[in-house]
Parts: sequence; C-alpha cells; structure tokens
Amino acid sequence: MEKQAITILQLYPKDMNIYGDNGNLQVITKRLKWYGYTPVVIEYNVGDTLPKKVDIVIGGGGQDSGQEKIHADLLKIGPQLQKWADQGVPMLMVCGLYQLFGHFFKTLAGKKLQGVGILDIETFGTNERLIGNIITQSAEFGDIIGYENHSGQTHLGANTLPLATVVKGAGNNSADGNEGARYKNVIGTYLHGSILPKNPQLADFLIRTAVEKKHGEFSPDLIDDLFADMAREIARNRPR
Ligand code: GLN
Repeated sequence: MEKQAITILQLYPKDMNIYGDNGNLQVITKRLKWYGYTPVVIEYNVGDTLPKKVDIVIGGGGQDSGQEKIHADLLKIGPQLQKWADQGVPMLMVCGLYQLFGHFFKTLAGKKLQGVGILDIETFGTNERLIGNIITQSAEFGDIIGYENHSGQTHLGANTLPLATVVKGAGNNSADGNEGARYKNVIGTYLHGSILPKNPQLADFLIRTAVEKKHGEFSPDLIDDLFADMAREIARNRPR
C-alpha cells in the first residue's frame, strides 16, 4: 500500500533557526514515519516560491537581524499564510517567527517590523533579556517544557488565548504569566529547546490535525515515548 504523504513547510530555515529549532522538523518527520506516513519537507527561504498546498507549517527563532532580513518577504507571503491558518492548517511558530506572526515587533532600536497579523499579539523590544529553562502548563497539552531567550516582550490582544500559563520562567513577558498564543490550529510560543523533542504531545497535535484534515482519519499505533519522557524529567528539574 502506498504511504500517505504529509507536506511540511519550514519557513526561513537559513535565517530563523536557533537554539535547536531544527529539531522540531526532525521530530515531525520521524514521528510521521513511525506512524506510517511519508513526510515531504519543503524549505522556504527569502525569494522562494510557496507550494500550492501544505499540511503543516513550522518556523523558528532568530536574532533581530535575522527577522529584519526575512521581514519584507514574510509580508509578501502573509496573505497565503493567513488563508492556510483560516483553513485550519496546523502551524508552530517559535520566538522570532512567533513575534512576526503578530501585528508588529518594535525593536529596542525603535524599528517597527510589521507582522503578518495571524496572531493577535504585539511585541516590544526591551532592555531585559528573558532567558533560561521554562515550564508552562496548558489545559490542552499538559506541561510544556523548554528554553527561552528573548528580549522582545509580547502582549496578547483582549480576545486571544495564551498557549499556556507559566509555572517557572517568564514566557510572553515579565508581567502576566502567559506563554504563547493560539489562533485556530496556529501555535505561537517562545519555547526553544527544541520544543518538540521534549513535548511530543505538541508534535502529535500538529500531525493528527494535518492527517485528519488531509486523509480523514488518524488512528496509528502509539509510539513509546520513553526517551522523551526521560528528557522531560531532566529538563523539568534543571535550574532556571
Ligand atoms: N530577536 C527576538 C528577541 O530577542 C527573538 C529571539 C529569538 O528568536 N530567540 O526578542
């Protein structure tokens, strides 16, 4: 039987891919294979052409300079990303791209980088760097554990739900105890680490949503996540 394909679009891996974010792609492709699907990976960098159809979209973090580099191109593809988001395509955006999925990121130097506005969030560069291991808790996904390093601080619009509540660390900003944001199946988060190897429940959310949308049903054999569980335990007990 021919295996069913799932296409993963990775946004700007050349410029937006720090603190191990590429591990997210590895987890998604590996788990798809374990579940019996064929992952098809498309890298999208500045100037490339978007594919017509995608099943999962992921993007990582980067320095402010990396964000400035991709910014104009991102605005060009913004309307298509918004269409996919509206249609329920699952997406995971980490840190730098999380910020640019919002309305804007105003750098400390005063430059206002307009975002694609898929997430109802605003981000302001600050003098304070929020850095270290982070533990958060989410009703839908349980504990989400990772590592953050950002000086941008993000604030959610009135009707936007965070991804999680911070247990240890900072998250969106140093004040309100929220982490990440959600729009339909789009997840924005500050968590690197990378996030998916230690949080397979999030990887499976992206996979299940994509497979059900494309192939109608997702009922694979369970994966033994012993090593992921061990990594979670170690990460959970690390000092901030
Ligand atoms: N440059 C952004 C900030 O520091 C994003 C950093 C990141 O992606 N880790 O806020």
